[in-house]
Amino acid sequence: MLRVEHLTARYGAVVALRGVSMHVDEGDLVAVVGPNGAGKSTLLNTVAGLLKPVNGKVLLDGTDVTGADPARLVRAGLALVPEHRRIFRDLTVGENLQVAGITASAADRRLRLDAARQRFPILDSRWDTAAGHLSGGEAQQLAIARALMSDPKLVLLDEPTLGLSPVMTDVVFDLLAELHERGRTVLLVEQNAHRALALADRGYVMRPGEIAAEGPGAELAARDDLFATYLGGGVG
Ligand code: ATP
Repeated sequence: MLRVEHLTARYGAVVALRGVSMHVDEGDLVAVVGPNGAGKSTLLNTVAGLLKPVNGKVLLDGTDVTGADPARLVRAGLALVPEHRRIFRDLTVGENLQVAGITASAADRRLRLDAARQRFPILDSRWDTAAGHLSGGEAQQLAIARALMSDPKLVLLDEPTLGLSPVMTDVVFDLLAELHERGRTVLLVEQNAHRALALADRGYVMRPGEIAAEGPGAELAARDDLFATYLGGGVG
C-alpha cells in the first residue's frame, strides 16, 4: 500500500533522512521507533506531503505521490494524526469533526459523525465543548476521530501517547489495536517502543537519518541489543 524509496529530506543544512526505504502492506500495523531526532516525524510528514523530499519516492498503491499536496493525499486515502494533535481549539468537538468530514458527501459525513459519537463516548458527551477545553487524552481521541472522518485507507499517527497519563495511554493503544483488527492500515510512530513493536505486524528502528533494523514487531520487541543501543536501554 505504501512504499517509501530512498527518501532524503533536509531542513536547510540538517539532513533529517538519508536514503530511507520502508513499506507498509495493506492491513498491517507498522511501528517506527527510535531516539529523539532520528527523523521519525520527518518521515511521516514527508509521506503526508507536508515536507518535500530532496530525493527519493513515496508510492501509494503504486502511484507516485512524492511531494503531492496534502489535500490530494487525503483524497487518495491517507490521513495524518500529527504530533501535538493540532485540533482547532476554538471550535467545538462536533465542529472539528464536521470540518474533517468536508470531503465526504453529506450522507457519508452523517454516518461517520454517528460512528464517531458511538465509538468515542467521551467525545459524544463533550460534543459542544470547545476542543481547547479537552484533556490531553480527550484531545488525542478527537485527533484520531478526526482522521477517521475521511475513512482513510492508511492512517499515520505521530506519537499519539505523548504526554498522556498511563490510563489514557492504554485507551489509545486499545484504539490502535481495534483499528488494526478492523483491517485499517496503520503507520505508527511511538515513543513507547516496546509496546508499539509488540502490537505491530512489522517494525522499523531508526537511528539518526536511517533505518537501523526492521522485521516482525514481536522479534524487534525482544531484541535487547536494539533497546540498549537505540531505545534508551529499558524495555517498556
Ligand atoms: P522526536 O521524537 O524528537 O520528534 P524524530 O525522530 O521525530 O524525533 P524529527 O523531528 O523528524 O525526529 O527530526 C529529525 C532531525 O531533523 C533532527 O535533527 C531535528 O533536529 C531536525 N529537525 C526537525 N524539524 C526541524 C525543523 N523544522 N528545522 C530544522 N531542523 C529540524
